[in-house]
Amino acid sequence: MYVDLIDRLRCPNDHADTWLVAAATRTAHRRLIEATLGCHECGAEFDVRDGEVWFGTRVEHAPMPVNADESMRAAALLRLEERGLYLLDGGWGSLAAALQQVLDVDIILADPPTVVSERAAADASGDGVDALGKCTLRGVGDRWPVAGAALHGIAMERVTNARLADALRVLRDGGRLIAPAGAPVPAGARELARDERHWVAEKVGDVIPLSRAQR
Ligand SMILES: [Zn+2]
Repeated sequence: MYVDLIDRLRCPNDHADTWLVAAATRTAHRRLIEATLGCHECGAEFDVRDGEVWFGTRVEHAPMPVNADESMRAAALLRLEERGLYLLDGGWGSLAAALQQVLDVDIILADPPTVVSERAAADASGDGVDALGKCTLRGVGDRWPVAGAALHGIAMERVTNARLADALRVLRDGGRLIAPAGAPVPAGARELARDERHWVAEKVGDVIPLSRAQR
């Protein structure tokens, strides 16, 4: 994982938002290869192995087709912004390299298909440039191990109600959320568009009550 993304990660356990402290045993090209991320709040430790951060047991997802149409669709749905931070869950991870060619964005991969992480490892053994700005998380549960309001967008494959609700914690106001068409749009998100495969919504900021102005 790219070392500069560590400060965006958080302990996924049920306590106050707490950052993780890295103890690295092997690094290369500003990436952590072998390390331990520790939580001072609950004492949990998460291993970094072959550059991937392990929060739980492996979850397998099939890759998505990678072509120009799929890449441009994902870039538009996520409304990619230069230097933004995006989380791609499951098969969406297949599009990570293509999206980083569209714009210079940082990407967190949650349980990407195995073929994607193998490609990232191959990149890292070269000059490492392609692996910058990426961070792979494994075994992600119902709580995203990410700081509040850290993300410009999330594309979700595996949906639970808890994951949908927690997505609104980690998205900034106006951040984009993509989920399968059959999933409910959570409270706090406003649907912008949908097709037979997915819907896209944006996080709405806190509403300021008009009654304050009336006194
Ligand atoms: Zn903790």
